[in-house]
Amino acid sequence: MAAHLTPFDRAMSFMHASFQRLKLSEREKKLLSTPEHILRHEISFKRDDGKTMKVHGYRVQFNNARGPYKGGIRYHPDADIEEVKALAALMTVKTAVVNIPFGGAKGGIQIDPKKLSASELERLSRAYLRSIADDIGPDIDVPAPDINTNPQIMAWMRDEYETMKHVYAPDLITGKPMSYGGSLGKDKATARGGFFILQQLAKLEGLDLRQARVAVQGFGNAGSEIAMFLHEAGAQIVAVSDSRGGIYSKVGLDPIRIEQYKKKTGSVRGQYCEGSVCDLKKLKMDQTEVISNEDLLMCDCDILIPAALDNVITEKNAKSIKAKIILELANGPVSPEADAILQKRGTIVVPDVLANAGGVTVSYFEWVQGRSGEQWTAEKVDRELRRIILQSFDDVRSEAKRRELSYREAAFDTAILRIVEAMRVRGWISK
Ligand code: GLU
Repeated sequence: MAAHLTPFDRAMSFMHASFQRLKLSEREKKLLSTPEHILRHEISFKRDDGKTMKVHGYRVQFNNARGPYKGGIRYHPDADIEEVKALAALMTVKTAVVNIPFGGAKGGIQIDPKKLSASELERLSRAYLRSIADDIGPDIDVPAPDINTNPQIMAWMRDEYETMKHVYAPDLITGKPMSYGGSLGKDKATARGGFFILQQLAKLEGLDLRQARVAVQGFGNAGSEIAMFLHEAGAQIVAVSDSRGGIYSKVGLDPIRIEQYKKKTGSVRGQYCEGSVCDLKKLKMDQTEVISNEDLLMCDCDILIPAALDNVITEKNAKSIKAKIILELANGPVSPEADAILQKRGTIVVPDVLANAGGVTVSYFEWVQGRSGEQWTAEKVDRELRRIILQSFDDVRSEAKRRELSYREAAFDTAILRIVEAMRVRGWISK
């Protein structure tokens, strides 16, 4: 039965558990489980050979009770309507957990962008933006990057919008390049937020981060940056991976070196392997082993950071996880069944809607800067991010302690109460 659950079903399972605990009314439940708008478009763009390619593009605007819709745009073969709906619901909860004045949305194009040239990617991004241009805007819906999208793509989209609408819109979209309305600190914001939480959690749990062994699944933007922050703080990075597999070393890996090899060879194994052929002598000398993504999840470590795709920790492997703390830097990495197993086993899971909320928090700073024409210093961004993330962590932890809930349950309840309150004062639901 579990195999048939869609990403949206999994997200809703966490939401419904919260609705029950909070005894929401039927109308409240309905409003919080139905996306307000679903935009679906067929996106046509020219390939370099002159042929036209058509792909599916989506934007799901889930709920805007607390402010304009907010959320990234993902380019991925799995980014179908169910996944985009799930991510839009999670964004609604996430913006409420960190208490920034936004609702939740998500965009997606169902395509593998690694198969496109840079000019094809630009034509696709501009075509997608044109398809949603009348339904987004700085006061309506503010997109951002997500998996396989980046500041360059945000710049093309802002440019397309400004050209199309004859406006100046620095607050249309976040995650832009620094030279075109970006914010300092945005590139590292997701990892930075997760790192602040880990520091605080370690302190409260009596865990010395300098003694901690950490495994990071996914060495993209968020995964590589948090590995760097933790390495700098004295933690031992024992395992890392990317879509091509991973490496493990009980004596610790150097994320700076791994990043260099990943840039050069496209893989975190680049130092040891060429394709599937690995230098066994070198591996042995460095006390390093080649491992799969599945092995990484179950490796001997204190802190496990899934920072890649969703639904990687399921009822099949949850019992084999040795980490005491899981920090969800990816969106939706733990299935509802796995979450229940981990909770029973006493594993501390910091949920995505809190653990990776640093990204959207600095997006909020970028939007504020775009609206006011100000430019914040890196120190101000870092200080404000720290303040918001630690306040949210404290809100969630207090609720968890008070009502004997997991962090995920406490985060969802805190967020949903904030959204319901906004819907009440707006008159969408009665008192
Ligand atoms: N894509 C990021 C997320 O899932 C950031 C969203 C945003 O900045 O709007 O949280």
